[in-house]
Amino acid sequence: MGMERWKWRWRWKWIWENPFYRGFCTIPNSSISQPGSVQVQHVYTLCARGQLQEALTLFYAINIPHSQAYATLLQGCARHRCLDQGRALHHHMLAHNHEPDLFVTNHLINFYAKCGCLDVARQLFDQMPHRNLVSWTALITGYSQHDRPEDCFQLFSYMLAHHRPTEFAFASVLGSCDCIRGRQVHALVLKTSFDAYVYVANALITMYSKSLYSDDAWVIFQTMSTRSLITWNSMLAGFQLCGHGAQSLDLFSRMHCDGIGFDRATFLSVISSLCSEGNDVVLGLEHCYQLHCLASKTGFVSQVEVATALMIAYSKLGGDASECYRLFTETSDCQDVVSWTGIITSCAEQKPEQALLLFSQLRWEGLNPDCYTFSAVIKACACLATEQLGSAVHAQVVKAGFEEDTVLANALIHAYARCGSICWSEQVFNRIEFPDTVSWNSIFKAYALHGKAVEALQLFEQMNVQPDAATFVALLTACSHAGLVDEGTKIFDMMVQNYRIYPQRDHFACMVDILGRAGHLLEAEALIYRMPMEPDSVIWSALLGACRKHREPKMAELAGRKLMELDPKNSLGYVLMSNIYSSEGCFHNAAFIRKEMKGCRVRKEPGLSWIEIENQVHEFACGGQRHPQREAICAELEVLVGQLKEMGYVPETNSALHDIGEEHKEELLFCHSEKLALAFVVMNSGRSDWKTIRIMKNIRICLDCHNFMKLASDLLQREILVRDSNRFHHFRDGLCSCSDYW
Ligand code: ZN
Ligand code: ZN
Repeated sequence: MGMERWKWRWRWKWIWENPFYRGFCTIPNSSISQPGSVQVQHVYTLCARGQLQEALTLFYAINIPHSQAYATLLQGCARHRCLDQGRALHHHMLAHNHEPDLFVTNHLINFYAKCGCLDVARQLFDQMPHRNLVSWTALITGYSQHDRPEDCFQLFSYMLAHHRPTEFAFASVLGSCDCIRGRQVHALVLKTSFDAYVYVANALITMYSKSLYSDDAWVIFQTMSTRSLITWNSMLAGFQLCGHGAQSLDLFSRMHCDGIGFDRATFLSVISSLCSEGNDVVLGLEHCYQLHCLASKTGFVSQVEVATALMIAYSKLGGDASECYRLFTETSDCQDVVSWTGIITSCAEQKPEQALLLFSQLRWEGLNPDCYTFSAVIKACACLATEQLGSAVHAQVVKAGFEEDTVLANALIHAYARCGSICWSEQVFNRIEFPDTVSWNSIFKAYALHGKAVEALQLFEQMNVQPDAATFVALLTACSHAGLVDEGTKIFDMMVQNYRIYPQRDHFACMVDILGRAGHLLEAEALIYRMPMEPDSVIWSALLGACRKHREPKMAELAGRKLMELDPKNSLGYVLMSNIYSSEGCFHNAAFIRKEMKGCRVRKEPGLSWIEIENQVHEFACGGQRHPQREAICAELEVLVGQLKEMGYVPETNSALHDIGEEHKEELLFCHSEKLALAFVVMNSGRSDWKTIRIMKNIRICLDCHNFMKLASDLLQREILVRDSNRFHHFRDGLCSCSDYW
């Protein structure tokens, strides 16, 4: 075997160095003795300096058709992707009856392939009386670079009948292979000992990483005797792509210790891998500071891509927004649309207003947003309370010619749904010509958010692409929000039986929710114990919520304990437990839970509501302390409550604190921010207004406010839309779209 390998390598070395096979030779010697040779020499010099246009002008001026000159100029055109100039050269060649030889034809193929005119390249290739390794490799590389994997692989297979591939052909074909073909090529690489070429091994690492087989990539990496910086970078990128952030960081520190050095690509991969899912956020932030420090020391921070990657990492890890902004301003002299998109992305979720402000500034800078910028801005719109901004951005998307972009359409479906305009989500979805799985999932999620389970299930029947795990989470959520037990159970079973998608925690959480809400508490509990993985806090809180609804204190105690164990800083478990105890009259236990909550330094998230009146957003806190017109709002609310009581409204004081009088309990209920917001709207818009009242809320709406809103929609004869942390409630004529399931 050892001898065999050596022989092969020797033979291919010979072929590669043989001038006949080399094909592309850049330094001409024979031309010196020909007429006009001094000028021709000058053409080469200009080409070597990158002055292609000058070289071409000179060449046409001296007008001596000459193979080497054509070759050199074509190479220049290929390098600078100058399609028109190269074509003109080809025409010149034909017009002067200069029959291109093997050498020049190879250059023509290479030129057309590099410029993406693969069919022309193929035609030339097919017409060649003789081909050599270079002809094949040039076309294979072209197919690979322009994303034509079928043609690439086919040509490579044909090639094997005539030639042993070069390392370049191997690397090119690997670049366009999926994993199944990639493994076949890998076998051939091993047979012909080409794995010893760093170039080929790097391509193998990338091929396996792209197919998310980072273990195979890692085996190749480890067995390599020599590695280049590209090898390390490929492996880092592989880990990052496969979501193995920790391994990527480990490899980087090994790289650093071994003195390998690094470049921009290294930085970009490592920084991106900080945000891999499942990574420790606190540790990630620390690493982010370290990398930032290293980037500053080595000067890479001034490169806009590195600064942008850092910005995005900081924002994803919940780092300081001002840090992001500082990074952004530091690169002010070379800011481009990518860095702007970076800063907009970093603000999108936490500071959506600022993201929109930056977006309008970008326009002032004379830059044109690309689809990534739009995607970030749409994300910001989804976090805001109003649909106006969403439709303004939508209009710009259309204007900029990105209407066909499915990724943006998917983001818009989500944003409109979050802003309460489900009909706009539907419209966007209907306009997508070829919806992908994400599009379908987005519209299902939109329906779920609005409690439109029947619509979601009907649409699912029409789904013409393969559903994935997220599809079923969306559908199950829709069923749980509408209380559809049978349909939910059917979907859950269908997922495994028809689609071989095995339920994850999310699916179980939905199922527990569906069963629990409908009062099938024992079934829900049994399902939790049947789960193949450990139930998490989301699942226990679903069961706890169901226990509260159906007054099942025994089971609630178990679920509450589990929830507090798994997520001691989450106020939900404590609050629900104390509510359950109070409503059962176990005030002693309720007090104990509240004390425990204080001991763990858990604070209930303060309730906040937002409404928009005439382009101004008003915020209401529980109790209304923050609002300057507090007195007037409370007076309006009092009138409203009086009228609603006449319609049969009874304040739900059951779950409030026990140690205060009944009257006081009512008072506390009336402080809830969504009631204050409603009173404020009524105060400002008058009762004759027909527009939908939209209230956004940060936590779940309570039972009392839900009753209150139902009756208020009847009293005011207006639709009231409340978005709480979980879903939408459309209140109309005394009823809610959630059918009291939430
Ligand atoms: Zn409330
Ligand atoms: Zn509701």
